Amino acid sequence: MDFALSEQQAAFRDLIRDFAGRSISPVARESELTGRYPEEIVEEMKPMGLFGMLVPTEFGGIAIDAVSYSIVFEEISKAWMGVAGILGTHSLATLMLARFGTSAQQARWLPDLATGVRRSGIALTEPQAGSDLQGIATVARRVGDHYVVNGTKTWITNARHADPLPVLVKTDPAAQPRHSGMSVLMVEQGMPGFSFGKDLDKLGYRGPESSEVFLADCLVPVENLLGGQEGHGLQQVLQALEFGRVNIAGRAVGVAQASLDRSLAYARERHAFGRPIADFQAIQLKLADMATEVQAARLLTWWAASALDSGRRADLETGMAKLYASEVCIKAALEAMRIHGGYGYSTEYEIERFYRDAPLMAIGEGTNDILRTVIARRLVLEEPS
Ligand SMILES: Cc1cc2nc3c(=O)[nH]c(=O)nc-3n(C[C@H](O)[C@H](O)[C@H](O)COP(=O)(O)OP(=O)(O)OC[C@H]3O[C@@H](n4cnc5c(N)ncnc54)[C@H](O)[C@@H]3O)c2cc1C
Repeated sequence: MDFALSEQQAAFRDLIRDFAGRSISPVARESELTGRYPEEIVEEMKPMGLFGMLVPTEFGGIAIDAVSYSIVFEEISKAWMGVAGILGTHSLATLMLARFGTSAQQARWLPDLATGVRRSGIALTEPQAGSDLQGIATVARRVGDHYVVNGTKTWITNARHADPLPVLVKTDPAAQPRHSGMSVLMVEQGMPGFSFGKDLDKLGYRGPESSEVFLADCLVPVENLLGGQEGHGLQQVLQALEFGRVNIAGRAVGVAQASLDRSLAYARERHAFGRPIADFQAIQLKLADMATEVQAARLLTWWAASALDSGRRADLETGMAKLYASEVCIKAALEAMRIHGGYGYSTEYEIERFYRDAPLMAIGEGTNDILRTVIARRLVLEEPS
């Protein structure tokens, strides 16, 4: 068994690492603190093909494997997790179109989404329903050759830039089981009745906007129903979320690794009682735990990504990776703050940003407790081997 990346994967990682170190790291702190949207970074990511990571080559994408996909999120998040958010839900939207879209939908949207000319996101969460997606209240009623859509979505990352935006709706609110009445509609900017609210204030994850989305008698043509058949929306979304969990796990590994890197450098240079603090065993124990846990999280993420690459069902693997990596990330960011003492609390350093960014990874793409229930269900249902 070989835990190393292939030559091609390692070369790709070096490319992304170089880009993140050159173009993201130098501007991350100031952009994040001032809330400036990183437009110039977006422009650089377009020709690199990063908006087409999960788009088949026939539509102009780079169609990378899921391990490489997780590495993109790790390397970018080592520099600034917010930038990873610009690619995250966009890539899930492209995956849904590539897997489930009709040929007309794929030909219409995938080439522009692959190059970043068009961007996207994914609109699932509502003010009254996040984990319980079958409890959403957005309804799409078919009238002639259109759906009339009413509802509100919230926390939608990239909402202002998304065109088209996949929106999870109920096409048959009375259906039993409830998921059989759920569908995804590709809603386009400028459609009558479609609007979004102001950017929501948030603890971290600044850079990409997260906004409310309003659908008020919004008219969506029937040809915008993803896959052309009603009733498959929840399965379409759940498959995309398995990739989402790998991208969140990758981000968590990135922020945790950055916390470790900064802590190691600081422990070597900061002196107390006449010695570098790295000489104190109390500091060494923290560094050893961080390094061990970050590597374990990375390997778990690659393992989950490999499961996705094999094409088999991977809810257990991707759930474990996202759960573990995000908890490691939260702990590493806090340990980095302890190691940095007062400076860790200062906006002059990046530790406070890691600390603010880390908790999102335990919430997004399924909260960690929801993932525990998914993992446990698989364990309990499966025959012992
Ligand atoms: C910065 C940010 C960006 C986001 N971006 C997007 C986006 O782009 N698109 C999108 O659709 N959503 C997005 N979200 C929403 C996110 O996916 C949800 O917040 C998340 O799924 C949890 O849903 P909720 O907030 O409604 O919490 P709830 O579902 O209300 O959960 C509240 C608490 O109850 C627990 N809980 C709920 N049900 C159970 C259960 N059955 N068993 C045990 N515990 C349970 C949860 O674990 C949690 O601790 C974003 C959120 C944030 C903060």
